[in-house]
Order: sequence, then C-alpha cells, then structure tokens
Amino acid sequence: MAPTLIDELGSALAERRASGLFRARRTLESAAGPRVRVDGRELLSFASNDYLGLAGDPRLAAALSEGAARWGAGAGASHLICGHFAAHAHLERELAAFVRPCDNPRALTFSTGYLANLAILSALAGRDDAIFADRRNHACLNDGALLARAGFVRYRGNDIAALEARLATSRARRKLIATDAVFSMDGDLAPLPRLLELALAFDALLVVDDAHGFGLLGEGRGSLAHFGLASDRIVYMGTLGKAAGVAGAFVAAHPIVVETLLQTARPYIYTTAAPPALAHALAASLAIIRDDAARRSRLTALIERFRAGAQSLPWKLPLSPTPIQPLIVGESAAAVELSEALFARGIWVPAIRPPTVPKGAARLRVSLSAAHTDADVDWLLAALADVAAKELR
Ligand code: PMP
Repeated sequence: MAPTLIDELGSALAERRASGLFRARRTLESAAGPRVRVDGRELLSFASNDYLGLAGDPRLAAALSEGAARWGAGAGASHLICGHFAAHAHLERELAAFVRPCDNPRALTFSTGYLANLAILSALAGRDDAIFADRRNHACLNDGALLARAGFVRYRGNDIAALEARLATSRARRKLIATDAVFSMDGDLAPLPRLLELALAFDALLVVDDAHGFGLLGEGRGSLAHFGLASDRIVYMGTLGKAAGVAGAFVAAHPIVVETLLQTARPYIYTTAAPPALAHALAASLAIIRDDAARRSRLTALIERFRAGAQSLPWKLPLSPTPIQPLIVGESAAAVELSEALFARGIWVPAIRPPTVPKGAARLRVSLSAAHTDADVDWLLAALADVAAKELR
C-alpha cells in the first residue's frame, strides 16, 4: 500500500532526527532573565536575546499592566480598521525621533520583526525589481523577497565588491539592498557606510534590519547612529522583543516610504494590531534605553570578559563586538553534544545548526545580557573549559 501523507511526514521527521537536526522546545517555568527554571531545575541562561535584561524588569511589567488597565487587552482590529490607538501613535513618534534614519522620518509599528520585513520587501519591490541580499541575512528577509516575487540576488557575506558587480549588471526597474546590521548568528556588523554608498551610486534603497543593534549600538539608537548615517535611501527596521524586552518591531524611514507601507503592505494591512498595552510598555522601555547608558557599559564589560576568557578554549571565536558570541564547533551533532554537556552542568547555551547557519559551521550561540554578573560569565568559561578537558578527544 502506498504510504499515506502522514507516513511521509513521519519519515521526513525521522530523517531530521537521524541527522541531528530535530528541534525541541524547552518550557520555562519562571520569568525571563539570566536565571530560569526548566523541569524544576535552575539554569544559568545564555540563550535569549534579552540583551539589556529588560524582559523581566518589574518596571516594564508594571507599565504593561498600566497599559492594559488603560487600553484593555487587545486592539480589536487591524490598524486601518479601528485598531490604531494613541499608544501606538505615541510610540511611532518616539521611535522615529530616536532612530532618525533621515530628516523628518516617520515610523510604523508591527507585531513582529518577521512581519515588518515581509511588509518592507513586498511593498517596495515587485516582479520587475531586484532585491540584493547578504547570504547571512535572517530568514525573514529571504521570505520577504519570496513574497515580493522580485528577482533575488544573494551576495557572499559582506562582500561589497560582489554586490557592486551584481548591481552594475542589473536591469531591474527598482533595486533594494537588504542586510542585517548585526548578523544574528555571528554578532559582527555589516559595512553599512559602504552599502549606503552603493545604494546612492546605483539608485537603490538600503533596507537595514537592526534586530540585534537597536537598543545597544549608537547609545541605544542603533546601528545607523553607530556609523553616523542618515539618508532618505535607508529603510530601517528595528525589533522590540530583543534589547527592548517586550515584543514587536518598527520601520522608520522617509515619510513617503512609510506611507507606501501603510497603504500597500499586506503584512501591515491584513493583521490585527498588536495590543496597545504593549505599545504603552514599549514607551517605558524606550525611556530606559535612552536614559540608562550604564546597562550598555555593563554589557560591554561582560563581552570583553567573555572574549578574554574564551581565547584559551579549543573552539574558534570569530570577532564580534556585540553580545552575540559564537563558538564555532563544526558538525551539528558535536554542537548539540557540547550544548548538552553544558546543560548537564546547569548552563543553557543553544546549539545553532543548519539551515540557520551554513553546513559545517554549527555553533554554540552565547548571548550575553546586562543582567548577567561577572561570576555568571566566569562560571560559563569554567564549564566550557571543563567540557573541553573531559569530553573532547
Ligand atoms: N531579523 C533578525 C535579524 C532577527 O534575528 C529576528 C528574530 N530572530 C527577526 C528579524 C524577527 O524579529 P521578530 O522576532 O520580532 O519576529
């Protein structure tokens, strides 16, 4: 008898398991933070993107409940029907002024960064256009290009010469260059000033995904401020569920670009607005990001501490000035083993495998937070050294 559809799906899952690519969720039994409880066990976590330690901050929990008391639990509809509240409008104004990608910018909020990227690419590019994308970009920029049905040209990580050659021969009507500002699995930065020069030279837009830079780089204003960049050519996307500690995302750009998204981006139009209570909490988060520079200095000190201590470990640690610190292991199974050996020692560092990273470049993604202590980092380094001594040939 021919296999049923369910049988086929089952064997695909079995193959995935056999090749070390099966993923399982761990359920947290405590609030977000560097110490979490899983299956009744306390763990020291280096797994989240809560870089400033704000996800579990009681001030944001209080702002969220204040927002819920004022605005209710849900938005009730999409932004263009009746789901756009004063809390959203206020947050948009604050974000646009804070990030300032160009003169007189405007911002638009989204419930997730994934949706924001789909919106940007599908609204600004179509069949006659081309999207030039760094190979290491986040999956949702790639998915946005698919949704746009535009030509999709991928260039080698940060390879400006390759990008320039592709732009020079392109016959596309409209050109978009799309890049992560901080590469999410490596922690290094894209050469945004060079990319902007190319955008200007080839009459293109530059889409900057700053999911891992907003709140951290450029005194919290993100990667554009870090490099001192502003231009009408830039379409900036920041996420609000990582350093900002809550949820959601925003696009900040020239008002005509933003109005185009509002009028035409299906991932903006056809989805219920995020609860206004979240926007209310995010305004409180933005105030902390703006005013509390000490959190960023603390994080910088932890990054330096980790990098100094990790030099003697057997795994390659590529250059990264951000809290994303990858230890390159190689094979998926070996990365999973290392992650499990740490887990057995009470430390949670996820193994990242293909297709999220290239084949043969599976890694541990150590993610530091301003809420970690020096002792936390020292414990991680000691545990890594212990695993290297006892469990590696
Ligand atoms: N861009 C990058 C670079 C990311 O790392 C992520 C999240 N992992 C996203 C976009 C998506 O953001 P969100 O989680 O808000 O959907």
